[in-house]
Amino acid sequence: MPSNVEQSFADPHSVRIPQWLRWARNSLQGVLEFAFPLRCPLCQQALAAGFPANCPAALCDACCARLEPLIDQHCQRCGGPVGPNVDATQGCQLCQRDCFRFRTVLPLGIYQGWMQVVCQSAKEPRGRDLTAALSGLLLEKHSEFLTENAFDAVVSVPHHWTQRLSQTHHAADVMAAVFAHQLGIPLARHAVHKTQRTPSQSGLPPSQRRRNLNNAFFAVSDHRIKGGRILVTDDILTTGTTANEVSKALLQAGAADVVVAVIARGIGQQNRHR
Ligand SMILES: [Zn+2]
Ligand SMILES: [Zn+2]
Repeated sequence: MPSNVEQSFADPHSVRIPQWLRWARNSLQGVLEFAFPLRCPLCQQALAAGFPANCPAALCDACCARLEPLIDQHCQRCGGPVGPNVDATQGCQLCQRDCFRFRTVLPLGIYQGWMQVVCQSAKEPRGRDLTAALSGLLLEKHSEFLTENAFDAVVSVPHHWTQRLSQTHHAADVMAAVFAHQLGIPLARHAVHKTQRTPSQSGLPPSQRRRNLNNAFFAVSDHRIKGGRILVTDDILTTGTTANEVSKALLQAGAADVVVAVIARGIGQQNRHR
């Protein structure tokens, strides 16, 4: 049975459906929802209210309430958490030595505690619906910014093609599909490639992390990218090295602006892997 995300992303406008078939489909959908109720992808409880409009998955109220730590106010350079009285526009102690190519980072939470457990679950083979639900929360959290900054395309941080062979899903791809679907903007598939298979960032000191990914990404310079405001998705951002290299490739390909959206912002030394 296809996942909720796959069902939702089947383009309903690609074929003109007759009225009787639409009625039959809606009736069948009602029967299926009764027999197989929509469930929270985290705790598997049936969702009485179903999914929000236009969203392929959602967490139950209890899981939403447990989802923390969330980031209330974030640094406008790196997406790190900052206090209520701090000027968030000038960087924070996490990023004061960094020079980023992206304009800002839109985070949902901090990569620690329960949020860390949830992010790891989202990476697992059955984590597609969970990733979609987290993406929906991320969109909701930054809806004002996303509405004010009309993006031209969404791009996911890619893996090398050899890494994809062993993966059933890639969280950044699911995020990009949800963002494109809900914001109504193009998903620029294969606009960015990872041209080198690199060692994991985990455990590398900062200088080696930058060298490890230096020029590891290539962006195609086509109408989707040239002059465009590009939204880049990734599940976790810690040092920002990966997002920075992808942003560099996009800007070299002619993008006018790059903003990064992530489910979790890693802030501890032990998790400095992306
Ligand atoms: Zn739940
Ligand atoms: Zn910062």
